[in-house]
Order: sequence, then structure tokens, then C-alpha cells
Amino acid sequence: DPDTDAGATGESLRTPIVAVLGHVDHGKTTLLDKIRGSAVSEGEAGAITQHIGATAVPLETVSNMAGSLVDPTDFDLPGLLFIDTPGHHSFSTLRARGGALADIAVLVVDVNDGFQPQTVEAIDILRRTGTPFIVAANKVDTTPGWNAQEGSPIKQTYEAQSDRARSMLDENLYEVIGNLSDEGFSADLYWRVQNFQKNIGVVPLSAITGEGIPDLLAVLMGLSQRYMKEEMAVDISGPGKGTVLEVKEEKGFGATLDVVLYDGTVREGDTVVVGGTNEPIVTEVRALLQPRPNAEIRTEKRFDKVDSVAAAAGVKIAAPDLDEAMAGAPVRVVRGRERDAVVEEVRKELAQIEVDTEEEGVVVKADTLGSLEAMANALKEAEIPILRAEVGDIAPRDVAVASTAGEDVHRVILGFNVDVLDRAERELDETGVKLFRDDVIYQLVEEYDEYVEEQKRAQQETVLDKIVRPCRFQILPDHTFRQNDPAVVGVEVLSGTLKNNQRVVKWEDGKPKRVGELSGIQDQGEDVSESRAGNRVSVAIDGPTVGRQIEEGDELWIELPEKHAKVLEQELSDDIPADELEALQGYLDKHRKRDPFWGK
Ligand code: GDP
Repeated sequence: DPDTDAGATGESLRTPIVAVLGHVDHGKTTLLDKIRGSAVSEGEAGAITQHIGATAVPLETVSNMAGSLVDPTDFDLPGLLFIDTPGHHSFSTLRARGGALADIAVLVVDVNDGFQPQTVEAIDILRRTGTPFIVAANKVDTTPGWNAQEGSPIKQTYEAQSDRARSMLDENLYEVIGNLSDEGFSADLYWRVQNFQKNIGVVPLSAITGEGIPDLLAVLMGLSQRYMKEEMAVDISGPGKGTVLEVKEEKGFGATLDVVLYDGTVREGDTVVVGGTNEPIVTEVRALLQPRPNAEIRTEKRFDKVDSVAAAAGVKIAAPDLDEAMAGAPVRVVRGRERDAVVEEVRKELAQIEVDTEEEGVVVKADTLGSLEAMANALKEAEIPILRAEVGDIAPRDVAVASTAGEDVHRVILGFNVDVLDRAERELDETGVKLFRDDVIYQLVEEYDEYVEEQKRAQQETVLDKIVRPCRFQILPDHTFRQNDPAVVGVEVLSGTLKNNQRVVKWEDGKPKRVGELSGIQDQGEDVSESRAGNRVSVAIDGPTVGRQIEEGDELWIELPEKHAKVLEQELSDDIPADELEALQGYLDKHRKRDPFWGK
């Protein structure tokens, strides 16, 4: 097994690391399964090697699977290492020295579905990390009338289709090329691409029938050989460097690390430094574990111990004190160097990912350092301040921190791809801290934005509820039903909304004079709490006597406290109906004739 051979010394070419990304259901898992499956069915011993979190496909197998498309003598790279956890969450975890750990990526797009939210998000990550990628235009077999040619190169299968099927597929493929161009990438069908550094190659394929998979492998191999050979030249026997893919409890081992090693070798007994929640963790490798071949997966022992592992590889590291290790954090073997220098190196790398936090803001939790970084970028763009940002599931402590935020809209936790611990669930209920969770970053940000808008609206509504609202109304002639105690008269609401339990004023000699308080409104015999402009209703007014303080034909107003008039005019004038604004203006005008600064 070349990947666990630590005997090599000096420079050698390591395996390029390939990641698969794309929108949910576009076929990432199926594609990886197909590559693994057909590699296995090639039947040779050691055709593929199952790693922790990755599958290694050696050159010979790539060449067998790709048939005439790959001549193994053209290559000196050892093969391809596919990261098994599909999706860009793992991809953003896969960081190394501030960039992407994957050397190359396959962006899977369903040809029928085109670009979807996670496709765009994946493209953003690829762009940001400068990762070269190709597009797998998947599910070509779903084209109506498709005549499947299991496992064959795309050109061959293309020629076997009817004109109609071919032109339908073409249409879909051009759509995908158009999508890429909308995102600022010039792209074409891969066989037309001369320079893969300038243009994105699109490979039509089917993860189910295997059509086009030979092409995908050939392009991946060719690209790596042509453009990445220098980066692949590493000292495989040197001290190992890797990235934590996942922190996992394993029976008998405690917390373990699933690591992708991209440089050097890690050996049992090595001292390693790992990025932790607080400080870099310095520990010693107790065991290096690889999955057992499939047939034995049900047995108690799920892993085989190995003495050493060389890049590129996926491996599980068992060591003490790993509880605080973070997904996405760097792992460094100390061997032959100053321990403190390595600790410093890890610390520096972590500092690059540190998120700017402020005194006031939201709490952010993400599954990995990489996704935390991506979240922080997205929030910065949306101008949403962050109070605290950490990797890990949502714990009671996070709720406690969120509940200290000053503003209601910041008493919030945004969780990206994380779970909520049971006790935290209870705390959420008790504190009223609001939780938003999603596995698409921009959707999470959008949900939160919508919430903030909603809160703003609700707040304005409560202010409007608490504030006295202007209204002008008039007593109708011949509509006195009762003289006093209370006076009951018919009125027409002229502008604004008449509400019960408000004070009533009348203007006399340019001065407002309080005449009483509304104590009832009846609309056609039914008690109502309010009545809009244009309606005629009968009202009861406590205080006045008809014929003395008020007369039929009088124009009456709801009395507005000066402060309320001010808030209405200055802050809420956009939120009230036009007729109410008219009532407000009329009321202000009357006051301002006496006192130009009233309500200002
Ligand atoms: P993921 O969410 O991207 O990992 O998508 P999956 O690999 O789980 O695929 C989603 C669905 O699409 C599954 O039902 C697959 O069987 C189906 N699928 C994936 N690739 C193909 C393909 O090439 N052809 C067809 N017909 N179905 C496919």
C-alpha cells in the first residue's frame, strides 16, 4: 500500500486531493459511490484504498477505468485521493495555510436543474480559495429518450443518441455554461477547452450509468499532472501536516481526529500539535487507524492499526486530550523540530481564521473553522455584528452569552450545520433567545435579516398601538339621542380612525377645549371599539351636555398629547394612512397658529 509506506525518503510526488461539491441532490454521493464502486469492480487487489474520510484511487486503476482516455505512461502522479464527505461544508473545513486543502474540485450540477443556491455558494468558496475546478454536468441519462451506454466515454455515448435526445442534452449543457458565465467564469465542454487555467471544463456524465466518468477521471488526472506537479512535489517522509476533518468519539479511544494529511508523514508515537478551542493542544499519537475492508465492518473492531501514514491520505488519530480539538484546525507533527516553534505555527494559522467580534451582536456557531470563517464573511457583508463566534454545537453557555446582548434583535444564535445540546434547548425556552439554523449560509443570513425586519415592523406597530391617533369627526344634525350622562350623538368620522376611551376636544376661539371622553361607539346597534373615516356611528361622550358644551354640527377632535403628535409627525408619518395624516396635519396646524413650536 503506497499510502502507508513510510520507507520513502526525500522528494516524491504526492496524490492530488480532490473534493466534490454541489447543490443537495445533484449527485455528489452517487458520483463518489460510482467511482469507488467501479474501481472495486475493476477487481484488482488494492484497486482502491479506503481511507478515513477519503478514497485513494491509484493511477493504474484510474487508467483502467478511463480506458483509452488515460495512458498511464503519460503520468507520474500516483493517482487521485477523493475526499469522501461530499458538500462544501467539508470543503470549507479542508483548509490549509489559509487556502483550500483540496488541490482540485469537482462541482456537480444536475443538468436538468442547473445552478441552485448551494451551487452558487460552492462557486463563491472556490473563487475565494482560488481552487481550480471542473464541472460535472450530471444526470445526462435522464434526458428523455436516452440510450444508456454503461460506463462509456461521453463522446461514444453521445454518438449513440437520437438527434432529439442530443439536442435536448445540448440545450441543458449550454444552460450550465451560461450559468457559469453569469458567475464570471468562461466555460466550455471540456474537449473544447485548450487552457484549463483560463476556462472551466464541463464534463457531461451520469453518476448512475457511469457514462462520462472515464472523461472526468481523465480530465482530473490530466489537470493535476499538467498544472499541479510542482505543488505535488513534497518531502513525504518529513513531519506530517494535515487538517482536522472531524472530531469523533470512538469506543475505546475517546475523542479521536479524522485528519486529511497533505504533507509529510505521521507515525505512531509522534508528538503532534492540534488547533484547539482555546490553545493549541500538544499530544502524542497513540494509534493511527484506517477503516477495515468492507466485509469486516460489522465486527467489533472497525479499524486497523497502522504504524505510519504518508501524504496524501485520510487517517484517524487516537491520542489523549483531544476533546477541545476543532474541525478545520491544523495538525502538525513536531518530529525533528522545536516543539514551541510548531505550537507557534499552529497558533498563527488559527489567528488567521479569527473572527472580528464586537461588544454588541449575535452569537455564531458553525461546524468547522472553515465554515465559521465563511459565516463571518457573509455576516460582515450583511453588516451584522458578531458578539461571539465559535466552532461546535450549541451549548447552554452560548445561550447565556446571547442573552446578554443589549438589543433584542441581537439576542440571537445563528447556527450553521450544528446541533443543539439538550440542555441548551431548555435554556433557549427560558431566556427567549432566538435560534436560527440552516445549512446554506446565505439562507441563514437571509432568515435572520427577515427576522430583523419583522421585529422592526412589530415594534412600530406596538408604538402605533400605544400612541393616541388623530381623528376629526362631526356631530350630525338631528342626531342627539341623549342630552348628557353621557351625551349620545350620531357622528360622521371625517378623517383618521375614531377609537373608544379617548379624550375629545373642540376648538373655540383658536383654543382647544376638552369637552369629555369617549365611552362607547356603536355601529348600527353593535358595540365597536373603533370606526374608520367615512363611517357614521353613534358615540357616547362622558362630560358634556348637548346644547351647552357641544352642539349638533360641531367639529370635534381626539385630543393628542403633544409628545404623541411629535412622534407621529417625525417618526411614523410614513406608517399611517393618508386620511389620518390629514387629521394630524389639521390638528398640528390649529395648535401651531397659537404656538409655532407645538409638537416640534
Ligand atoms: P447529493 O445530495 O448531491 O449527494 O445527491 P445524491 O448522490 O444523494 O443523489 C440524489 C438523487 O439523485 C439520488 O436519488 C440519486 O440516485 C439520483 N442521481 C444521482 N446521480 C444521478 C444520475 O446521474 N442519474 C440519475 N438518473 N439519477 C441520479
